[in-house]
Amino acid sequence: MMKVVTLSSSSKGNSVLVCGENTNILIDAGISLNTLIEKLKLLDVDPSSIKAILSTHEHSDHSKSVGPFMRKYGALLYCHHDGVQAMVSKIGNVDQSKIFYFYEQEFAIDEFVIKPFKLPHDSVTCCGFVIHNGGPKFAYATDLGFASEQTIENLKNCKLVILESNHDEKMLIANTNYSDHLKHRILSKNGHLSNVNCAKVVCALATSNVKQVVLAHLSPENNTPQLCYQTVCEYLEAMGIVPNVNIKIDVAPQNNLGTVFVIK
Ligand SMILES: [Zn+2]
Ligand SMILES: [Zn+2]
Repeated sequence: MMKVVTLSSSSKGNSVLVCGENTNILIDAGISLNTLIEKLKLLDVDPSSIKAILSTHEHSDHSKSVGPFMRKYGALLYCHHDGVQAMVSKIGNVDQSKIFYFYEQEFAIDEFVIKPFKLPHDSVTCCGFVIHNGGPKFAYATDLGFASEQTIENLKNCKLVILESNHDEKMLIANTNYSDHLKHRILSKNGHLSNVNCAKVVCALATSNVKQVVLAHLSPENNTPQLCYQTVCEYLEAMGIVPNVNIKIDVAPQNNLGTVFVIK
């Protein structure tokens, strides 16, 4: 049995709590230390019970409190070999013996078996994860410019998939607060997944064993929970898939705790 809950999910900060039978881990810690502690307490989870932080990549919306959390609670850090240096330069002075690195092979953190897979993003390296602890699997994939066949294969057969639905392309292009450079960055193949591109992936997942998708990492400026939900549902309907019958769709709140999903 696993419990999975998004603590925060947007371009401003990301962290997901994964509780197993005996082990708790975080995927990313991209919110302030105080906010992170507050959210764990709301869930009745002692911050010192967090064994490790599993890092997707070094961007600050994923790494903001990795260093402070490690220093305060002694948590371990797991990041991709290629991104270790970038993470180390972000997180300040931490006990180096607490940093572990992985490649694309499966590895374990106590009861959790974790399979990392690379995602196309404008960081030194970026990873998604498939995680299980003996039962059904859960997958996490945000910060990807596009979803390759290989990425989609990794997400299939997971009971729960948390997937980026970052922006509405029209909202982004019309946003006068964003420079052309930034727009290109977000829209590029190393940027972020748009609502429509997310919808295409959800459609591919609906015909596999995926039961529940959570739309995540929404841009507060270029998306709304209603808009990404509607875009995905309309796309599914057009393809003959009934949302919330064939596959459940949820949206991760940008700042508040998300639904607690129990996977067993
Ligand atoms: Zn991000
Ligand atoms: Zn990023």
